[in-house]
Amino acid sequence: MLPLVALVGRPNVGKSTLFNAMTRSRDALVHDQPGVTRDRHYGICRLNEDTSFALVDTGGIAGEEEGLAGATARQARAAAAEADLVLFIVDGREGASALDDEILRWLRKTDRPTLLVINKMDGMDETTVLADFARYGFSDMLAISAAHRQGIDDLVDEVLQRL
Ligand code: GDP
Ligand code: MG
Repeated sequence: MLPLVALVGRPNVGKSTLFNAMTRSRDALVHDQPGVTRDRHYGICRLNEDTSFALVDTGGIAGEEEGLAGATARQARAAAAEADLVLFIVDGREGASALDDEILRWLRKTDRPTLLVINKMDGMDETTVLADFARYGFSDMLAISAAHRQGIDDLVDEVLQRL
């Protein structure tokens, strides 16, 4: 079985865009509308014949426990709990939000190894944004732009070092 890496984060931070960039496929549903990806979605990130891992794009976590949003949040938690590594994706343009705080709280409970990945960093000042997320206490923070394929190779290297 391939090691499993879960993409977790609130809606619209760019999880599906990153999933596509890492799997180089278009099969994740990417849309401007927050929370459009409702199901878990699996793909493979393949570096070469000997090196690959499975990736799961979790649905948007809307922070609600009722209805569809609640079911989606539960799926995302389940995906994170079974993953070998979690990529906690946040939006560098919007900065740390209350929903990010909430997701981080349950991620800590699942106790999986977690990397903080700050997306949408195209045109952003890295020092300022990293300072905003410093309070989350991650020793490693990766700044990327999934849409512009910036930082993806470094991210994949970091992932492989942890699997
Ligand atoms: P998800 O809800 O977390 O899966 O987010 P999506 O992948 O659907 O992306 C939500 C929106 O953010 C889309 O309009 C994307 O084009 C945009 N987006 C994703 N990655 C980036 C990025 O690196 N930079 C910028 N500027 N926009 C991005
Ligand atoms: Mg999505």
